[in-house]
Amino acid sequence: MGHFPHLFSPIKLGSVELPNRCMMGSMHTGLEEEKNGFIKLAAFYAERARGGVGLIVTGGFSPNRAGRLSPGASMLAHKSEIEKHRLITKAVHENGSKICLQILHAGRYAFHPFAVAPSRLKAPISRFTPWTLSERGIRKTISSYGRCAKLAMESGYDGVEIMGSEGYLINQFLSPSTNLRTDQWGGSSENRQRLAQEIVREVRNATHPDFIIIFRLSMLDLIKHGQSWGEIVELARALESNGVNAINTGIGWHEARIPTIAMMVPRGAFAWVTSRMKSEVNIPLIATNRINDPHVAEDILADGKADMVSMARPFLADPFFMAKAKEGRSEEINTCIACNQSCLDQIFNRKTASCMVNPRACRETEIQLLPTQNSLHIGVVGAGPAGMSAALTAAQCGHRVTLFEKSGEIGGLLRLASRVHGKEEFLETIRYFNVMLAKHGVKIMTNTTIDPANAHLWHVDRWILSSGVKPRLPEIKGLPHPLAVSYEDVLSGRVDPGRRIAIIGSGGIAIDVARFLMPFERSFDETWGIDRSLEQPGGLKTTSVDTYPGRHIYMLARSEGKPGARLGKTTAWIHRLELRKSRVQYFDGCDFLEIGDGGILFRKGGEIVQLPVDQVILCTGQQSVNPWASSPLPEGTMVIGGAHKAGELDAARAIREGMLAGSSI
Ligand code: SF4
Repeated sequence: MGHFPHLFSPIKLGSVELPNRCMMGSMHTGLEEEKNGFIKLAAFYAERARGGVGLIVTGGFSPNRAGRLSPGASMLAHKSEIEKHRLITKAVHENGSKICLQILHAGRYAFHPFAVAPSRLKAPISRFTPWTLSERGIRKTISSYGRCAKLAMESGYDGVEIMGSEGYLINQFLSPSTNLRTDQWGGSSENRQRLAQEIVREVRNATHPDFIIIFRLSMLDLIKHGQSWGEIVELARALESNGVNAINTGIGWHEARIPTIAMMVPRGAFAWVTSRMKSEVNIPLIATNRINDPHVAEDILADGKADMVSMARPFLADPFFMAKAKEGRSEEINTCIACNQSCLDQIFNRKTASCMVNPRACRETEIQLLPTQNSLHIGVVGAGPAGMSAALTAAQCGHRVTLFEKSGEIGGLLRLASRVHGKEEFLETIRYFNVMLAKHGVKIMTNTTIDPANAHLWHVDRWILSSGVKPRLPEIKGLPHPLAVSYEDVLSGRVDPGRRIAIIGSGGIAIDVARFLMPFERSFDETWGIDRSLEQPGGLKTTSVDTYPGRHIYMLARSEGKPGARLGKTTAWIHRLELRKSRVQYFDGCDFLEIGDGGILFRKGGEIVQLPVDQVILCTGQQSVNPWASSPLPEGTMVIGGAHKAGELDAARAIREGMLAGSSI
């Protein structure tokens, strides 16, 4: 029996047979709206199809103008758009995979003044109050789904996924919290489900019988007054009888304040929800959320929790995920670590997505790793994210590479970050580089310091300097002082943290240090109040539990504003909630006066505060490390990552600069 036998067994969706049970889930990339973006999108999907995924679902396309996520956002409502979609379907089919178009009507999540919804209720995550859909408006919306599906079929798609979860329009009709209507579209569950049913019927009637229809069903709303489990089961059964070929799992509305896809969410954390539905319907069920490893996928399928698994971000991180798994090379998979930094956070900033660990994602036509005509000996100084990336890329392009690291192991700041609770996934990136550097013959010299005096001994043709950063000592009276330590001292384990701690800083590193000091003794479900009994509508317990740190943590920031103000939108709110749950006391706008034996003295709003603490942990930025700081760099040396520019730790920039440097020689 081959590797991952359940993952690689065929499955039928309707009459269409798929070679394996993995679907690349829907993921908006931003290329959908870019000029000539469909050419890039076709290359993006083609690479994933070549990598062996059985089925791909596109990012969401609205069936009409009102349903677009923002003005100018992707939509499929006119015949004139068929031609560009054919670029995608042709590219995917030529590379042996199938592809469905996701139809997504944003409802009240639309970020424009023409947003519509079942009732005139503004979403907590939107600026715009939606217009109430009239009976005629509802009928037109249903027809627009049929038209969109027909256009998708004419564009060569193998099917559609109807987005019925995450709090978008269909979900808004389903939930009594957002549907206050008293006509045939609101009130009883039968009425609230009418829109979903009619849309499915319309799509089925508009397309041929072999056309795949997947419905993404919100199985766990994670909002107060969401749907009850009984209602969700009732809807799933009705969808099946109306011709849906598979049900994908939706977890949590976008406005829910429970993490569902971030790094601290355990792998496969929501497969139990899909599993609960297994005995209720006879069509394939697809499990989702934080499945990023073929072993996790295989276990879910082998345990009978689902018939298929969906992964979206893991295919940004590694287009050849499935091929590697099938060939027994799963150690070579570049694992998605659920950081959201270069994908979803970029999308929320209206930029094109990419991937922190794979900067080629969505740049397939721009970044190409071509074989060199002039193989050189490349010396890379520093084995943090920039150095590992540069060394691997240069070796992949055909150079002889030596990677020098002054400490005993590679990984740099990724290793430090992996010590923080919920950030263990960073070890996967180090594992990936370790395996791939060995595979491509990179010589790794640990415990080796390169400096101007010994560099010539290594007979290197070109140097890449990726020597990283070191913590910066701020200008505060009393420093240096034995009470004051750096984030590096604490995260590396060199210093044992005390019971009363003041952290100076409010950025990502300060939050990481606070999270490192928190206990996290409770399970994920307990911490966030998820009700596995599904007795409460929405799947939430009536009270969630605060965690108690067992130590007193103060966070003191010089600047004004919330902690983590510069962190990505997808995770900043989670970290702030964690700080609150762990009773971290936060002071912004602090003027630091002195650090001494008595702790830290600062002025806040005209008041002088003395905090007696065991330690002051300085998270006050970094400065570049450059062994050639006082002598000229060897000719042609490239300086990348933190050595090039210190600042907030940015592994995405480091890995990207490494890849660009390694491929440019
Ligand atoms: Fe995964 Fe992070 Fe890459 Fe997004 S940026 S695909 S979350 S590794």
